[in-house]
Amino acid sequence: MADIIQLLPDSVANQIAAGEVIQRPASVIKELVENAVDAGADNIKVLVKDAGKTLIQVIDNGSGMSETDARLAFERHATSKIKTANDLFEIRTKGFRGEALASIASIAHVTLKTRQPGEDLGTQIIMAGSELEKQEPVSCPAGTNFQIKNLFFNVPARRKFLKSNTTEFKHILNEFQRIILAHPNIEFELHHNNEIVMHLPQTNVRQRIIQTIGKQLNQTLNKLENDTSLAKITGFIGKPECARKTTGEQFFFINQRYMRHPYFHRAIMKAYEGLIPGDSYPSYFIYFDVDPHTIDVNIHPTKTEIKFENEQALFQIITAAVKEALGKANSVPSIDFETHGVIDIPVMRKNTEISVPEIPIDYTFNPFEIEKSGKHQATTYSGGKKKITDDWEKLYQSNMPEMEEKDLALFSNQEALETPQKDRSEYLQLKGKYILTQVKSGLMLIDQRKAHVRILFEQHVKNMAMNRSVCQRSLYPAKLDLNHEDYLLVNNIMDDLNLLGFDINDLGSNTIVVNGTPDIQKNTSAEELLETLIEEYKQSENTVKGNIKERLALSLAKASAVDYGKTLTELEMQHLVDELFACENPNYTPTGKKVLAILNLEELEKLFNQ
Ligand code: ADP
Ligand code: MG
Repeated sequence: MADIIQLLPDSVANQIAAGEVIQRPASVIKELVENAVDAGADNIKVLVKDAGKTLIQVIDNGSGMSETDARLAFERHATSKIKTANDLFEIRTKGFRGEALASIASIAHVTLKTRQPGEDLGTQIIMAGSELEKQEPVSCPAGTNFQIKNLFFNVPARRKFLKSNTTEFKHILNEFQRIILAHPNIEFELHHNNEIVMHLPQTNVRQRIIQTIGKQLNQTLNKLENDTSLAKITGFIGKPECARKTTGEQFFFINQRYMRHPYFHRAIMKAYEGLIPGDSYPSYFIYFDVDPHTIDVNIHPTKTEIKFENEQALFQIITAAVKEALGKANSVPSIDFETHGVIDIPVMRKNTEISVPEIPIDYTFNPFEIEKSGKHQATTYSGGKKKITDDWEKLYQSNMPEMEEKDLALFSNQEALETPQKDRSEYLQLKGKYILTQVKSGLMLIDQRKAHVRILFEQHVKNMAMNRSVCQRSLYPAKLDLNHEDYLLVNNIMDDLNLLGFDINDLGSNTIVVNGTPDIQKNTSAEELLETLIEEYKQSENTVKGNIKERLALSLAKASAVDYGKTLTELEMQHLVDELFACENPNYTPTGKKVLAILNLEELEKLFNQ
């Protein structure tokens, strides 16, 4: 039988490659803009018509190409970015596969005008379906100008699959966003149907994020910085209360290349656990700077998936870095050193780890039962004596580096943790709901129930982790008949319930016996407590991500926290506030609701100057 295998003509091979690299107009824009970035441009203009279906034009002021290079650029596997296989592990450019231009030219009409800055004349090349139609000298600005017309003119199936202009333009915006966020130092313009859609002057990362996503982000971004031998990680994360039910503001960049990374996404979500509702997503813009040897970019044709050598270690680093940045989110509005003469708030030097000072806390202490003296001493906990420190600021000061006048400017945008001023604090209860007290910048309002939920949640989490929950055994064990669903649930989480301080046994046939309950200071029967807890636990599935223990800790906190309407004495309020500020996250409930707010002096003054 005759041989039947033959090499495909280049034009066909290119079209096949184009199927992978160029799916829609947005892919053309991605490839051309990336080439412009690689060419060192600091000004890139993108003009499209009909969502790129009729015209895509990308104009840059980069290196341009010589006459020969301009022609070679359209050959398959023609690239100036790598030479040997080893170079694959040194990649700092966006491109390196030498496929994009060959692919684009095989499925569209392309006109290229390019001139190197040192030359008088440039080159013009016209290509159609992989064929060179014309090459001639031309006078044109330095840099490169690509015009792509009639995309997929020779691949009707592809053209048919293109979506409406609105949808295709959305894809363009998505690709464009990924590039502009990675390169704040480049000026970009995007025009659609002769109208300017975006003009982004050169700026820094924070401002570029705001230019791109919108001004509303300005108040919600927290800086993240982490430098280890594996990676330098910088960027911004959104405050928990700004998390959204929709995605779209989650970005990872590695060596200035956008990447998708579901595993690292999980690392971020882990840091937000307990701070945001389970069905919402925080905004994040995370930039990795790593040694190119430690990653493999060449695992996906569009290079949006990247393999890291040290993914597990990086997972931990990311979670820790985000947690640290969130710790800063717990501080309340930043203090402007320019307008405040006295500096007596904690300020950390750059690269100093910011940590909440360790306070010995009696985890069994109940701020609402301080009159019943001796109660908390009867518990099994022996790790610390009740000691609410008298002066928070002193504690912070002991952690404070010595500051010199000249250093202050460096810290002017550092956020500070503001706590009530102990010796000057008076507490006022408003409507059985809010505790009011003064802080340095104005008036702090604390939601009493939310504060107590936060306090109890952290206590229960710690108690469970250290197996030191206190169980109050009752003289008369309560026998409970549950419905089958609840019975199964209780059995499923029995170990954790017992870790939380319950003492429950399964009697079979939908019946359990409760011999003891966690030592909470609320007058409820074992039945009532367990039932409320089960209800809260079931609901927590939708509101909080986290493991069984955290959900249980939250459910018990909710089942036992002080209710609205309960009048608190001055001393009770003081203890509640002290306990709150000993928490890791005083500002938010475990479901991401605000626990406190500050009305600052400026805002107060405005009320009287209208
Ligand atoms: P790759 O980017 O993977 O090298 P491309 O097909 O995208 O492959 O581009 C081929 C080559 O053409 C590049 O390596 C580069 O030398 C040259 N080139 C493409 N676009 C530009 C541009 N805007 N300015 C200067 N050179 C360019
Ligand atoms: Mg390229």
